[in-house]
Amino acid sequence: MAHPLSERSQLRHLTAQLDELKQKGTHFRLRVLDDIQAPVCTYDGKKVINLASNNYLGLCDHPKLREAAIQAIRDYGVGSGAVRTIAGTMKIHMELEEKIARFKNVEACVVFQSGFTANAGTVSSILGKEDFIISDELNHASIIDGARLSRAKIKVFRHKDVAHAEELLKEVASEPGRKLIITDGVFSMDGDIGPVDKLCDLADKYGAIMMVDDAHASGVLGRNGRGSVDHFGCHGRVDVQVGTLSKAIGALGGYVCGSKDLIDYLYHRARPFLFSTSHPPSVAATCIAAFDILENEPERIERLWSNTRYFKEQLGHAGFDIGGKSTPASETPITPIIVGDGRKTMDFSRALFDAGVMATGIAFPTVPEGKARIRTIMTSEHTREQLDQALDIIVKTAKQMSIL
Ligand code: PMP
Repeated sequence: MAHPLSERSQLRHLTAQLDELKQKGTHFRLRVLDDIQAPVCTYDGKKVINLASNNYLGLCDHPKLREAAIQAIRDYGVGSGAVRTIAGTMKIHMELEEKIARFKNVEACVVFQSGFTANAGTVSSILGKEDFIISDELNHASIIDGARLSRAKIKVFRHKDVAHAEELLKEVASEPGRKLIITDGVFSMDGDIGPVDKLCDLADKYGAIMMVDDAHASGVLGRNGRGSVDHFGCHGRVDVQVGTLSKAIGALGGYVCGSKDLIDYLYHRARPFLFSTSHPPSVAATCIAAFDILENEPERIERLWSNTRYFKEQLGHAGFDIGGKSTPASETPITPIIVGDGRKTMDFSRALFDAGVMATGIAFPTVPEGKARIRTIMTSEHTREQLDQALDIIVKTAKQMSIL
């Protein structure tokens, strides 16, 4: 018998929209991980080679991070008990922020509950309705939401098109409002790298604020994974650097790096910081241990890039469109296999799963209509044997489905 809440009519419009997704073949069900996030793991009771996680350096399960979390629970309990500005700032939160600031070579850092809230909370609080945001068309949803919340005027430039960004800046140059240029360091659906250095030149030329979202560059690009600003040698030129603690760092959270005044201002004005409880101490401890690993185990990043080069090469040899034709060319461990049609992509992803490979299908509205793809992500911990096995399954399944 249906639950009484299902019988009520107030939310029928949602059911209608879900039916539409089902008809289009892009409705999905959440896959449930039964064990540990790892290169080979068990989803929905089935053992698969995992090409879908953001666990770039295998830190979700690093023994030193586990130990750090357990020790912090013993020392400080499981919760912080309040928002940061009331009573929820613990020594370990400050320790993490100081560590990140040193690592990133900036004056100060503030940690948020997620990368999403770091972006949205920062963009929405540092600008107002008189101001302008010059934003890459493929920037992350958290930047778009933050921009909308700020009520600033949003000008979107074509993906990585610096000349177009300059045109937009020229159009508003004589307006009194502040201008913010913002780009992802690594774009999450295509795996290409934002032109941070060239956008810094524009920011200098037009007196604009420069902001970079390094969610997928943290732990991946730059010396010891310091991110895209380090990769491009742009230290001291990016006013606001956002990173995440949820991907390569292996835990959860986001951070903003910049000047002391920027961070102090965010303490006073960023709404997720002001109105949402801080991390449990175990999460902060885990992240501190993760930054130690970045500094002390650079071989993880080397393995990540070696796996990335190998996997891309093999997919290319097999004849897949892995970006660079109809979509931007991937330059990082995120490699899309472009299929085009949404339904076919989701069917491909399901068939891969049945054959033993977990690789997520991504369709509209996350990517443009007609550019649906399987997104693969390498980690440092995949073995060559696992990669060869995955490639074999991907090629066979694609042939069976006339995708290759
Ligand atoms: N920015 C980008 C480019 C991302 O891909 C993501 C994660 N999907 C985020 C920000 C948000 O990070 P988090 O998962 O830590 O909220």
